[in-house]
Amino acid sequence: MKKLALHWKILIGMALGIIFGFIMNSVGGKDFVTDWISPFGTIFINLLKLIAVPLILASLIKGVSELGHISKIKTMGLRTIGIYIGTTVVAIIIGLSIVNVVKPGTGMSEDTIEKIKMQYANSDGVKDKLMKAEMQTEAGPLQALVDIFPSNIFKALGDASMLQVIFFALFVGICLLLIPQKKAEPLIKFFDSLNEVVMKMVDLIMMFAPYAVFALLANVIIAFDDTEILLKLLLYAVCVVAGLLLMIVVYLIIVSVYTKKSPFWFLKQISPAQLLAFSTSSSAATLPVTMERVEEHIGVDKEVSGFVLPIGATINMDGTSLYQAIAAVFIMQVVWPEGLTFTNQLLIVATALLASIGSAAVPSAGMVMLVIVLEAVGFPAELLPIGLALIFAVDRPLDMCRTTVNVTGDATVSMVVAKSLGKLHDPQPKEWDDNYDAV
Ligand code: ASP
Repeated sequence: MKKLALHWKILIGMALGIIFGFIMNSVGGKDFVTDWISPFGTIFINLLKLIAVPLILASLIKGVSELGHISKIKTMGLRTIGIYIGTTVVAIIIGLSIVNVVKPGTGMSEDTIEKIKMQYANSDGVKDKLMKAEMQTEAGPLQALVDIFPSNIFKALGDASMLQVIFFALFVGICLLLIPQKKAEPLIKFFDSLNEVVMKMVDLIMMFAPYAVFALLANVIIAFDDTEILLKLLLYAVCVVAGLLLMIVVYLIIVSVYTKKSPFWFLKQISPAQLLAFSTSSSAATLPVTMERVEEHIGVDKEVSGFVLPIGATINMDGTSLYQAIAAVFIMQVVWPEGLTFTNQLLIVATALLASIGSAAVPSAGMVMLVIVLEAVGFPAELLPIGLALIFAVDRPLDMCRTTVNVTGDATVSMVVAKSLGKLHDPQPKEWDDNYDAV
């Protein structure tokens, strides 16, 4: 077991978790999974979240303070945001193309629609998403901008408000560049040391990953009992998964053409982060592992990864935007086909871009923001519960897949930005890290 590479161990844990979940489903052991297995998955996610905030703070402050000059932040910032927006638009176009060609919503029988409506339109899950979406829309147009600026850093850290923490870290990093080096040094050293400690924590937490994914997947499986409706939605789900796979191919092409690294090598190095994204459905929880893989196993300089990845986990969600485009059109194909005009499809490109930026990096956030995409194209409000009900049953597995793409996209962009700045090196194992091969 010790010799096996980490991604294999995680894959075995996932497979066993799925099998165990199905067995427990069939023998009526759901409560056992909820009470005795699932808490281990929660502990693991808690540990990852625990280190995410100190990691962003330490790596970003250290990264920025080592850039040497403020103009470099501007270059890196513009490049990062530009590429993030570019990849997201590509993802939305892929999604829209697939859903318009395959038309998964046009073949659905009245019977199925009725069944789904009965089962989910008034369910707590759908109501919860609608309520959250309403809270989002009630805020003024500039609220998202206001929310980036914290009024209390301890509250920002306590609430793990990613963008606020990123803003604060950038602010501190920039000021460290502006004060005399002698004065800045102690604080930079402190954050450097904190960064190393948190990275070590990632290594240690990851040793627990194969067992944690077992618990996480067993818990996901026991929630699926309505296989009939799942099968009815298969064509829609296949469209989303096909689009996501295509997006991965786009990343691999970028990696191979622009950074001149082997795509297979890239996949192997990043796979533990992808598998965790799949198991947790949260880019935020996966962030510490993404950073560790990208820095220590892919060779992206810390100044770049510390900047690009936390921002990416928060605003770059290619998988989510692709899903939102397909889901919005699918819902319209089923219940509001007259709304499917060319102008509305263009509007979907713009709103899915904004909605994916605004989606929190937590499970099912993409579905909440989908409501905003639908509202933007004038989708009738009374049809919203049915619209969400239509995609609700398959949302979790699709969330797992889109989160994997979100994380892969962030890693790809960090490599591209690093390469463009001459900061992509061969990964260097730390001389004092004898766990390097095992982890
Ligand atoms: N779960 C996704 C993420 O964390 C967001 C979404 O729901 O699409 O990246």
